[in-house]
Amino acid sequence: MATYIVLLGSPGAGKGTQADILIEQTGLVHISSGDLFREHIKNKTDLGQLADSYMSKGELVPDDLTIAMIKERISKSDCERGAILDGFPRTLVQAEAMKTTLDEMGEKVEVVPYITAPEEILIERLSGRWTCRASGHVFHNLYSPPAKKGVCDIDGSELYQRDDDTVETAKKRLRVYTEKTLPLINYYRKQEKLVEIQGNQPIEKVTKDLLAALSIEA
Ligand code: AMP
Repeated sequence: MATYIVLLGSPGAGKGTQADILIEQTGLVHISSGDLFREHIKNKTDLGQLADSYMSKGELVPDDLTIAMIKERISKSDCERGAILDGFPRTLVQAEAMKTTLDEMGEKVEVVPYITAPEEILIERLSGRWTCRASGHVFHNLYSPPAKKGVCDIDGSELYQRDDDTVETAKKRLRVYTEKTLPLINYYRKQEKLVEIQGNQPIEKVTKDLLAALSIEA
């Protein structure tokens, strides 16, 4: 049986950072719907162009497009042992679609860590975030500044601010999150899969709490 973990939490809660650490610890694949859309945008695909028109405004990409993209990703052979899903599902329709897909595969979502943080921290995190052009490495002008401004420490490529990481769009994304994604908290709580994790702590402590929630020894 494969292991599917859904990381829930608002934009800026630290899902991506933690997912990158968890894949090291678990050997599972990290599937980020936001990264997949950004890849499409970079490659100028039709889906990328469409997705960009929603993402740049802080809105959600329509469910049917998002679900089709994730279904295709999950069906790849590197997901045989399971995956850590980050940013998907974000609506009840997506959660139901994922349940149907996993049911068909004889699999299920194992556990849903829910990373929380106060709104003012989320806005500060999102609006100070800089991403590397080549590989998506993430820096922050307050918490983890690069050694040289505007340059990725890891691969030397240019750092840029995502369109949706401005203060205004960050606020919009949080409103969309409250409206569309918060219902998932109850959805997974009712299924007794939800584990709350305090995201407003040092990264290592959040990881420790996550590993405990997943019953994995560091
Ligand atoms: P993220 O990198 O997860 O913060 O996602 C960035 C943007 O991609 C979001 O603000 C949405 O516009 C879009 N997006 C990512 N995941 C989803 C999803 N599951 N459903 C709809 N839109 C999504």
